[in-house]
Amino acid sequence: MITEKLKPTNVNIMRCASRLKAGGLVAFPTETVYALGADATNGKAVKKVYEVKGRPLDKPLIVAVSKKQDIDKVAKNIPQAARVLIDKFMPGALTLLLDRADCIPDEVTAGTNTVAVRIPDNETALKLIELSGRPIVVPSANTSDKPSPTLASHVIDDLDGKIEFVLDGGASKIGIESTIVDTRTDPPTVLRGGGVSSDEIEAVIGKVEFKREPTYATSGYVPRAEVLFSAMYDGMADNINARYDKLTSQGRSVVILCLDDNAEHYGQRNLYTVGKTYSDYAHNIFALLRKADADNFDTVIAEGVESKGIGSSLINRLIKVSGGQII
Ligand code: AMP
Ligand code: MG
Repeated sequence: MITEKLKPTNVNIMRCASRLKAGGLVAFPTETVYALGADATNGKAVKKVYEVKGRPLDKPLIVAVSKKQDIDKVAKNIPQAARVLIDKFMPGALTLLLDRADCIPDEVTAGTNTVAVRIPDNETALKLIELSGRPIVVPSANTSDKPSPTLASHVIDDLDGKIEFVLDGGASKIGIESTIVDTRTDPPTVLRGGGVSSDEIEAVIGKVEFKREPTYATSGYVPRAEVLFSAMYDGMADNINARYDKLTSQGRSVVILCLDDNAEHYGQRNLYTVGKTYSDYAHNIFALLRKADADNFDTVIAEGVESKGIGSSLINRLIKVSGGQII
C-alpha cells in the first residue's frame, strides 16, 4: 500500500470520507495531535487501528463526532455537568467519558460500557467526520512506541505503507492530547490532563477530583533518546547544566529543551528552544522529541514547568516520556 499525503481540499476530504465509510483508515489533523480515523461503528475497521498502531487491546479509543447533537447518538444518560461542558468547550480539546450507546462496539471501548467522546476543533476534521456520516475513532496517528504526531510528516514517518491517506493540515495547534473528564462521578473526575486546563473546567462545573489514567500493557509514547526532566525550582538551570556536563563527559550526546527566555542560562550547550510560553512548549514538545531522535541525541533534558494552566498537562507528558526520571 502507498500512503498518499493529500491537501485538505473538499475533493480530497470527500475521498477520505469514502474510505472511512468503506472501513478504511485515514489520518487527519486535529487541534490536539494528528488522528488515525476509522468508522467507530465498524468493529473490523477499529481492529485495524489497533494493529497498525501496535496498540494494547485493553486501551480504549476516543470517538469523535462533528456536532453536539451527535453526542446523543454515541452516548446515553448524559449528565447535566456534561451538557454544561459540551456547551462551553466543544468543539475543543476536551473528551467526556459517558455511558455508551448500542451502536458503539466492544472494540472501541475495550469491552467497557463507557465511551469517550469529543468534537475536534479543526475544520478539516469536522468536514471529514460530517461527510463520513459516522462517528470516527481518533487515537493519535503514530505507532504506540513513538511520541504523538503533530505534523503530517510525523504520520508518514510512522505509518507509511500502512494506511492509504493522510490529510495534511499543517501543525496541530495545541500539540498535546485532549483532557478527559468523567462527569458520571460526583464530583466529576479528570482522568487525563490535556489541552483544556482543570482550572478552566472547575470555573464552569466546580471542584473536580483527579484520578490517574490506568497504565496499559505497553506504555508506549517514548522517543528513542533517554529523557530526563527537571522539576521547576530556583536554580533549575544550574542543576540541568551539572547533569548535562556530567553526561557529556561520559561521552553522551545531550540536548536541553528550554523556554526561549531561559536559553542564556545554558551557554554553549546543545539547546532546542520550545518557545515563549507553556502553550508553545506543549505545541512543540512532541516534534522536538522526534527531532532529538533524528539528530541522534541519546539524551534529552527537559526543563520543568509550574503546575498551572496547561503546565500541569505538560508535566504529565514529561513524566510519561521520561518514564518518571526526574532530576
Ligand atoms: P489516546 O488514544 O492515547 O489519546 O488514549 C485515549 C485515552 O482515553 C486512554 O487513556 C483511555 O484510558 C481513555 N479512554 C478512551 N475511551 C475510554 C473508555 N471507554 N473508558 C475509559 N477510558 C477511556
Ligand atoms: Mg496516543
